[in-house]
Amino acid sequence: MTIELDWENLGFNYMNLPLRYIAHYKGGKWNAGELTSDHQLHISESSPALHYGQQGFEGLKAYRTKEGTIQLFRPDQNALRLQKTARRLCMPEVPTEMFIDAVKQVVKANEDFVPPYGTGATLYLRPLLIGVGDIIGVRPAEEYLFTVFAMPVGSYFKGGLAPSSFVISRDYDRAAPLGTGGAKVGGNYAASLQAEVGAKKAGYADAIYLDPTTHTKIEEVGAANFFGITKEGEFITPLSPSILPSITKYSLLYLAEHRLGLKAQETDVLVTDLERFVEAGACGTAAVISPIGRIDDGDRTYIFHSETEVGPTVKRLYEELVGIQFGEVEAPEGWIVKIDE
Ligand SMILES: *Cc1c(COP(=O)(O)O)cnc(C)c1O
Repeated sequence: MTIELDWENLGFNYMNLPLRYIAHYKGGKWNAGELTSDHQLHISESSPALHYGQQGFEGLKAYRTKEGTIQLFRPDQNALRLQKTARRLCMPEVPTEMFIDAVKQVVKANEDFVPPYGTGATLYLRPLLIGVGDIIGVRPAEEYLFTVFAMPVGSYFKGGLAPSSFVISRDYDRAAPLGTGGAKVGGNYAASLQAEVGAKKAGYADAIYLDPTTHTKIEEVGAANFFGITKEGEFITPLSPSILPSITKYSLLYLAEHRLGLKAQETDVLVTDLERFVEAGACGTAAVISPIGRIDDGDRTYIFHSETEVGPTVKRLYEELVGIQFGEVEAPEGWIVKIDE
């Protein structure tokens, strides 16, 4: 059973669904956690998450299969990454089992909002961990909230994969060399808004961030990871502690090597070396892959395959991964977690 919604035209918009999960950390431990219909958070005005950015989040999706069942894609990886984020910001970790249980509860409770198979739409889940409580001094909070809410979202590419143009950010970094770039925190997003707004105003899909130490190497494409395909058949993606380790990226690295027979490698990607790529893409849970048609850097322009058409390797990678996510293609061991009927 699903309710009636315009599944094909959902976009990426907040929706107040019937139920979400919330757990409270106090006195050194998590409470049992529960589903609630209340979509407002009731927190102290002094909460460290609000003032000092002590928070982290995740993003993952639930997929409806052809058989009508619902499944998650590598939720254990999101749990592990939120734990890493928590350590970096001195927050308590949410155990993997608790994380996956919370996600499953929210999917089940909002089952009617998991879009039908074939629409390309999915149920997007947003786990959020925030420091709360009556603390105004700069130190880690003593209380935390962990919440998971959900909303149906549309397929990013309705009319098939289409390339976008990006511009290299020469005025702003999103992260510091030993900062929080590798943690999924709101602060990185706040730091990148100005570059993003400027890039969009100039007609680009988003800005590309360089390594904050030398400004010679590609790091992130907006809030997505970069990869390029060489004419020698290599899948290359940058390696740096200030890049957010994308689960989509690591999945593509694996599929590139084991399913497409490419040589997959994480290594430095110099801006001056961009010419070696015959195809390029940005990857993340939201869009899976956004083909990169063009990158501008001052007076220099780099074109990858075509500005209007997706390249063959990027297309195959996309189809393989999306096929796995919707249960049409056999998944590597442990990648799929089913929601019980
Ligand atoms: C979440 C995120 C990504 C993509 O990660 P996925 O696990 O593939 O969704 C990439 N870059 C940044 C900055 C992110 O926050």
